[in-house]
Amino acid sequence: MSTEALDPLEPVDPKSLDRHECQACGYSYEPVKGDDTRGIPAGVAFEQLPETWRCPVCGARKSAFSNIGPVGNPSGFKENLGYGLGVNTLTEGQKNLLIFGGLGLVFLFFISLYGLR
Ligand SMILES: [Zn+2]
Repeated sequence: MSTEALDPLEPVDPKSLDRHECQACGYSYEPVKGDDTRGIPAGVAFEQLPETWRCPVCGARKSAFSNIGPVGNPSGFKENLGYGLGVNTLTEGQKNLLIFGGLGLVFLFFISLYGLR
């Protein structure tokens, strides 16, 4: 049995093409790109990488990596979304809307105070 038996032609479940980010250095393994420095062809899911695979940047083990979801997902780790006060799930635009919406209300409040005089 060889641990190098990676077949890039094998159809891959798109769900398994999640990116994984190294918690030590921030490098992210992208299955659609593979890993040139370790000879990993494109299309190899993180789960399919040999156990001997290490982060090409800092040499961390696979266990040091976190699933950050497929390309195009909102930034942040999958498992962190939904925690806290729900603010993490807001997009940048929604956050801005909250902030500027709040400022607008304060502005209207002051305008109405002047209007009463
Ligand atoms: Zn690393």
